[in-house]
Amino acid sequence: MSKKYVYLFSEGNANMRELLGGKGANLAEMTNIGLPVPQGFTITTEACTQYYEDGQKINDGIQAEIMEYITKLEGITGKEFGDLENPLLVSVRSGARASMPGMMDTILNLGLNEDVVDVLAKKSGNPRWAWDCYRRFIQMYSDVVMEVGKKYFEQLIDQMKEARGVTQDVELTADDLKELAGQFKAEYKSKIGADFPTDPKEQLMGAIKAVFRSWDNPRANVYRRDNDIPYSWGTAVNVQSMAFGNMGDDCGTGVAFTRNPATGEKKLFGEFLTNAQGEDVVAGIRTPMPISEMSEKFPEAFAQFEKVCKILEDHYHDMQDMEFTVENGKLYMLQTRNGKRTPAAALKIACDLVDEGMIDEKQAVAMIDPRTLDTLLHPQFDGEVLKKTPVIGSALAASPGAACGKVVFSAEDAKAWAERGEKVVLVRLETSPEDIEGMKAAQGILTVRGGMTSHAAVVARGMGKCCVSGCGAIKMDEENKQFELSGKTFHEGDWLSIDGSTGKIYDGAIPTVDASIGGEFGRVMGWADQYRRLKVRTNADTPHDAAQARKFGAEGIGLCRTEHMFFDADRIPAIRRMICSDTVEQREAALAVLEPMQQSDFEGIYEAMEGLPVTIRFLDPPLHEFVPTEEADIELLAKDMGKSVAEIKAIIAGLHEFNPMMGHRGCRLAVTYPEIAAMQTRAVIKAALNVQAKHPEWTMVPEIMIPLVGEVKELAYVKKVVVETADAIIKEAGSNMKYLVGTMIEIPRAALTADEIAKQADFFSFGTNDLTQMTFGFSRDDAGKFLDAYYDKKIYENDPFAKLDQTGVGKLVDMACKMGRATNPELHLGVCGEHGGDPSSVEFFHRTGLDYVSCSPFRVPIARLAAAQAAIKDEK
Ligand code: ADP
Ligand code: MG
Ligand code: MG
Repeated sequence: MSKKYVYLFSEGNANMRELLGGKGANLAEMTNIGLPVPQGFTITTEACTQYYEDGQKINDGIQAEIMEYITKLEGITGKEFGDLENPLLVSVRSGARASMPGMMDTILNLGLNEDVVDVLAKKSGNPRWAWDCYRRFIQMYSDVVMEVGKKYFEQLIDQMKEARGVTQDVELTADDLKELAGQFKAEYKSKIGADFPTDPKEQLMGAIKAVFRSWDNPRANVYRRDNDIPYSWGTAVNVQSMAFGNMGDDCGTGVAFTRNPATGEKKLFGEFLTNAQGEDVVAGIRTPMPISEMSEKFPEAFAQFEKVCKILEDHYHDMQDMEFTVENGKLYMLQTRNGKRTPAAALKIACDLVDEGMIDEKQAVAMIDPRTLDTLLHPQFDGEVLKKTPVIGSALAASPGAACGKVVFSAEDAKAWAERGEKVVLVRLETSPEDIEGMKAAQGILTVRGGMTSHAAVVARGMGKCCVSGCGAIKMDEENKQFELSGKTFHEGDWLSIDGSTGKIYDGAIPTVDASIGGEFGRVMGWADQYRRLKVRTNADTPHDAAQARKFGAEGIGLCRTEHMFFDADRIPAIRRMICSDTVEQREAALAVLEPMQQSDFEGIYEAMEGLPVTIRFLDPPLHEFVPTEEADIELLAKDMGKSVAEIKAIIAGLHEFNPMMGHRGCRLAVTYPEIAAMQTRAVIKAALNVQAKHPEWTMVPEIMIPLVGEVKELAYVKKVVVETADAIIKEAGSNMKYLVGTMIEIPRAALTADEIAKQADFFSFGTNDLTQMTFGFSRDDAGKFLDAYYDKKIYENDPFAKLDQTGVGKLVDMACKMGRATNPELHLGVCGEHGGDPSSVEFFHRTGLDYVSCSPFRVPIARLAAAQAAIKDEK
């Protein structure tokens, strides 16, 4: 039997989302439970896929099937398509599996032409209504099917209202609307060069094609990428007989939520507009009445609507977002879906539904989108002021939260201004590691260049600091400390507000309010913790970040980068001396200065983590990142070391690398300078011994992580240095403290030889940032430049640095886990790349059998929830 591409509403149900799309599946479900739904049919998502396979054509078979269903619908409604006496008018509506705002607008009143309108006008005794339908139809059809700009029609309406001396659409008479319809058609003809189609069948096929086409429009493509919706899904099309909300004052149209989508309060929330159709409610042309008022004007329809709300909530066990129309006092349901809500409302609704006995705790955990949680953890703008402040630009929402401060242009200024109590926003072309202090001091960071995984974005997310990145519209003049945006020049000290959750930039100061973690948040997280198997650690380099992460529920540190500590002003001279040393002795002398500093850093972190596991990674970046670039600093260093400026410059020049990412870094540093590893081992072990002595109730087991290993002998060499150093100190202290030595798996060769490496390692931690860049062969700092082209061409659907590439990189991870465990059954497995906080990646790590994920502090709650959802999904 050939495939069925069309389903009557009465043939579908809510479980058929994949085939019928969300809207179609729910229209079917509402039909099944006996609610008043204007009948119709759904053309499946497979028909959409087929349309693209056929070179953007609806093939004859599918066209015939659609017409067959038109005939069925005629039977159901007793009306006929294109008939003069009793015409069937339909709406054509898109509907993907997940609701997608980027897609085609709906077309209403399809099936009309001049002859049909004439008869409708006469027969109904309501010519105004008939002509209103027709002019709407021409307008919508021209706009969405033929892409004749909307604004021309709006202009024509405005001109007509002006000519008639009225302000509201509803004040236009039948004759006015008839005249408008004529003008619209003329407009259509002048733009398209052909007459407006009069044949309903032609109109219908045109509309259906437009829906399929809209699946691939740029807005939809962007939305899909942001929301993890695969291109392959396709969209369904719903063809539905019309209910008329524009027949007079006993008619209208509305939208409503069963609960308040902003707060979660259990109270009907929505709006209603009399004598209106379709999107008039949201279009803002007229002011709708609050839904509560509807009870006075339409008591019967309202009472029925309230009943429907209850039925739908009980049925779906979730808050519903509904669209409906009242035709001559009678209610028709046009749509229902689980309503979108703010993160705060989501938590409240989940808890309320549990308390009402509608869902269990597992369902509550499963219904919250983990990605939305972090907006709850950051400061937010005061909503009232926000509404009044103009948006002057928008760029990537790189790190959530709101920031308001005075513009500064350098990290030093940010620090200096902050020290004297000023709030600042750091505006840079892009950021680099030396900007860290300034980024910390700023309320937020705005960059001109760089994507979601640029330095600024990654570091800001790690700090939980607001960041908007890649605002190419800024004309930057760093030298003169000014920039231009949206026609205005901003100078140092001017107020600016940025929202890292939306990417919007505002002119002026918008006060921020600190986020509070309400009781419901804690309740849901508590449930999540019961169901997850994966542990959640954090990436933290300072006691402050560690403490923050603990508050968010981190169960250890999966990655403590030791190099970040080296950038502090009091340390950088010692590290520079170490780098510019000629002999081992000189280097050891410089390292001896650093050792107590590192040790006290580690003690602080151990204290903050209260005995939980802490993985400390040894020095990783190429050394040239630490050397001075400013003349003054170079002179200082020369003096400090008793060398000439020229000698220092020669050393610095010698550190130059063609591809630092693949250069002298990671464990290669320890292979060339084992004394660095020895110093770091001493600091780690001594710190742990001290903290252990202070807190006998904790069991300290320091974890030392060797980065960038690609060959087992490399690891074995560095490990030997670590073990000899550590054992001597532990013995000397008369302690029996255990410690672990493990490695990062971030070079494909390490994954490929994981069986050998595992024999030398107590644990693997997948460094999926490097592993991704080395597997793909492009760096995350450069990928932003060309990834857009790849998205447009459907080569990649997502940024592999944000969402793990399960097919390629994931295969390496999976393989390394299996091979590693085969030779070392005790091997402990974790991940410490950015992906550790991305829900779909977390699900993958759960399935792959890792022991933990580690992510930046502000993503810890996200990972906890995502891990629970993965476990719940796994059970099913
Ligand atoms: P969106 O997905 O943008 O909400 P819809 O397909 O839901 O688009 O259509 C938008 C609005 O058009 C609906 O809320 C409803 O008011 C109106 N509409 C759609 N189909 C019909 C219909 N068959 N009868 C009356 N109004 C309709
Ligand atoms: Mg809708
Ligand atoms: Mg790395």
